[in-house]
Amino acid sequence: MDDTVGTECGVFAAVDFRKNSIFPYVYWGMRAQNHRGHQSHGFLTYDGKFNVHRGLDLIPKIKTKDIPNWLLRLPGHVGIGNVRYTTSGRLNEEALIKGIQPVTIETKKVKLAISFNGNIVNTVGLKKEICKTFSNFSYDCDAELICRKLAVELMQNQDLQSAVRTCIKEVEGAFSVSGITQEGELFAFKDPYGLRPLCTGCNAEGNICAFSSETVGLDINSFNHGFEIEPGEFVKAADGDLERKQIIATKRKALCAFEFAYFARPDSKLNGSYVYKVREEFGKNLGREYEDIVKNADVILSLPETSDDAAYGLHEETGLRWERGTRRHRYVTDRAFILLSHERHSTINRKINIVDHRISGRNLIIVDDSIVRGDTTRVVVKKMRKLGAKEVHLFITFPRIIGPCFYGIDMATYGELIGSTQTPQEIAQTIGADSVNFQSLEGFIKATGLKKEELCLGCVTGKYPTPLAQRLANWMRKKFEGGHKEIGRLYEIDVENISET
Ligand code: SF4
Repeated sequence: MDDTVGTECGVFAAVDFRKNSIFPYVYWGMRAQNHRGHQSHGFLTYDGKFNVHRGLDLIPKIKTKDIPNWLLRLPGHVGIGNVRYTTSGRLNEEALIKGIQPVTIETKKVKLAISFNGNIVNTVGLKKEICKTFSNFSYDCDAELICRKLAVELMQNQDLQSAVRTCIKEVEGAFSVSGITQEGELFAFKDPYGLRPLCTGCNAEGNICAFSSETVGLDINSFNHGFEIEPGEFVKAADGDLERKQIIATKRKALCAFEFAYFARPDSKLNGSYVYKVREEFGKNLGREYEDIVKNADVILSLPETSDDAAYGLHEETGLRWERGTRRHRYVTDRAFILLSHERHSTINRKINIVDHRISGRNLIIVDDSIVRGDTTRVVVKKMRKLGAKEVHLFITFPRIIGPCFYGIDMATYGELIGSTQTPQEIAQTIGADSVNFQSLEGFIKATGLKKEELCLGCVTGKYPTPLAQRLANWMRKKFEGGHKEIGRLYEIDVENISET
């Protein structure tokens, strides 16, 4: 867990074929996924026109007395929602407001609303192309790029499916998208690698169907789990059913491995497995891989909450006692990673309380999900030492992060990643721990139940699934090693025209 690592977005969309109000389902679907983005939220419904609510921060609680007002403002039987954490676009408040999703475009010919999760790599090239049709286009977020790109294709009289196909072919990056057309059709599609999750589900009677980034968005609505949308697949909700069409041949699947370690909720299912079960397996692996350290340890602690399941797995595997010596402040609901960089170092105290009598004089194993910049981990180790810990050993479920992410996780440059230049021993020294022990890549992959070539492991192997991202990574690595400043903002890099030499 690192204070400043954010993901791009969460998506929920639904249609009620009986034409009843859809807003309550979209609202709850998004509430269940607020962990995927805290900076802004938005809802859009369709009743012949688009009705929109957009706001900053967490999704608000709706008081009983206010429900009629919300239903009045967001009428219609089709709806999409979004929660967002900004990894693209500018970060000032005006830009944050402009970047709130769902985004819409309304011209004489085309009306479209889009909710998006991911990150686009060839932003600059796409923007240039879109400006040929929309000369006043000012880029505020990747969702707008997708929305405008689709609009450009639709304006050339392509049908929706063909427009999406062109979009999938020409946009590089991670994108799991849901949208509504001017006729009120609900649709969804994924990039050709399926980097971000997006699944489907329906109510028991089959008259409400939904798309959701995670299955928890379906669970909260008591919907059945349907299928995970395949990479390069287009799905349309029509005539009481979901129509699927593979509209582009895909080379390989590449689901983000970090979803398993950190972002997805433990009670969500990825690839058919509960994330908490996968995390338990991570803990078991760590127990097997670092037996010698376990033998001399007194107790396992975990940093709540993404590491709790791995700590339980480690305990199960080794028999070593796991104590709940760290507690989350229950009503501090912000995940610290949404805070701005100047607040980084102080956030851990606001999130977690450490129960001190469980620490003093003991050899500790602290289970954590990842080390990105190392700031938080350093603070935790320091605190443990201050509370009298004899030895502090870190067990990290995600393999060592050595490179940036170009697909929607907020790790933009080599320079900010402690693991890009330091070995585990050096990291231990830097953060003041006795040892830092990362789960092996092989163990991690096996626990997910997927094959290596079905996961994106770019940030831990340096091998990115998409060609432009690989070119960008090579270019940035050279810059970093040459002591030059890295540009971490993809919307400023003309990726198609960089030279790797
Ligand atoms: S580079 Fe890392 S964080 Fe980014 S999508 Fe791939 S696995 Fe996930």
